[in-house]
Amino acid sequence: MNLILIGPPGAGKGTQAKYLVKKLNNFQISTGDMLREEIQNESEIGKKILNDMNDGKFVSDQIVNTLIENVLLDPKKRGRLIFDGYPRSLTQAENLEQLLKKTNQTIDFIFFLNVNKEMIIERIKQRKIIEKRADDDLETIIKRYDTYMDTTKPVLNFYSKNSNFYEIDGGCKIEEITAKIDNFLNV
Ligand code: AMP
Repeated sequence: MNLILIGPPGAGKGTQAKYLVKKLNNFQISTGDMLREEIQNESEIGKKILNDMNDGKFVSDQIVNTLIENVLLDPKKRGRLIFDGYPRSLTQAENLEQLLKKTNQTIDFIFFLNVNKEMIIERIKQRKIIEKRADDDLETIIKRYDTYMDTTKPVLNFYSKNSNFYEIDGGCKIEEITAKIDNFLNV
């Protein structure tokens, strides 16, 4: 089963992805984690993206699409993908469609975790204390939210026409969101 979790930063995509990885024995495909790893490893990509990531800007579609292509072409992960934070632009969504076609796969569920700006700011302030991420300070949170509204909202419009698109109130408690997802999955 392949799934997409989509929503603003701080919506809880990572938390639900981790739950689903365990439940379904799938793989979490977090472009944010993959990019942070590139930075940690001081790779060529890592050096290129460091400033943009710390500033709360999106990394180029080209870089992210290349990382995703490697995942999609991995036979061990076929049909066991949980996308967390990808696609985030229409170009990425189109790239994913092509890669899915090429690898003979489909997306079974798209879950949109909808959370308002005020709650995101509160949640990310809390996350900053625990995870100490460089892009979780207030100014950057707001920038990331605005980027989400400009660039990721069109992706939601693109997917919302699909019959496997489900909107969930991401403002609920973690267990409540999990229960709603379970209910839709019916497994
Ligand atoms: P996340 O961990 O998903 O909140 O992502 C952290 C940061 O990584 C984002 O603010 C972007 O700078 C970058 N990033 C993660 N995923 C993507 C993506 N699909 N496209 C572009 N930039 C991304």
